[in-house]
Amino acid sequence: MPTPTLLVPLPALTGPIDWPRMCACCGGPAEKGTGASGGPASGWEFPLCGVDNSDHRDPVTVWTQDGALGFRSYRYHREFCRANKLG
Ligand SMILES: [Zn+2]
Repeated sequence: MPTPTLLVPLPALTGPIDWPRMCACCGGPAEKGTGASGGPASGWEFPLCGVDNSDHRDPVTVWTQDGALGFRSYRYHREFCRANKLG
């Protein structure tokens, strides 16, 4: 998915966010951001693998004004919703 189209409303996220321990872009083994929690706030991070390409720059977008999280990976969005008990 080229742009974030899978949305999670921020008000649905109460308390610490549970980030699935897999790359938020490709679903591979996470090497960075594996201790991620909390957010949305400045400096927060989410799990990513070691791949560095344009796809991996912005797999998760935060729109604070619109109150939404946007995911580009269907698989990660699904795991995120499951981990955080979102419908
Ligand atoms: Zn990856």
